[in-house]
Amino acid sequence: MKREMMAVAVTAGLVGPALAEDRMQVFPNGSRPSARGPDATFTGSVRVDPQFAAPGETALSAGHVTFEPGARSAWHTHPAGQLLIVTTGAGWVQEWNGTKREIKPGDVIWTPPGVKHWHGATATTGVGHYAIQTSVDGKGVDWMEKVSDEHYAK
Ligand code: MN
Repeated sequence: MKREMMAVAVTAGLVGPALAEDRMQVFPNGSRPSARGPDATFTGSVRVDPQFAAPGETALSAGHVTFEPGARSAWHTHPAGQLLIVTTGAGWVQEWNGTKREIKPGDVIWTPPGVKHWHGATATTGVGHYAIQTSVDGKGVDWMEKVSDEHYAK
């Protein structure tokens, strides 16, 4: 196992001291508790299911994020960018001074480092996506103001 992959596995709390470095590992679903997206940085009902790694311990991390209709992130940037892979439903993404764009399952969205944006569900349909990012100095995201109802509806 390469050092980075080993670090990911260990910090995800998914492997014990008996880890065999030359064997495949299965990290079972159900071993990583879901968390609610905090009200400070999300609007509406949002569930985050961690996939691997914790920011600050290793650079690469991923979570699966589920937004109920109308739910969305606050405006934010990622110091090393972010990949989204849409898994379910229908959502919206928007960068600052850009137009709102619909995203569907199978779509892959790249947000470059430092580009201010938000992502979330449409007003009527929930969305799920993987969020994959690399941390810089222990941080994978810089949060900003919330997306107002008026702006979201535009
Ligand atoms: Mn983002």
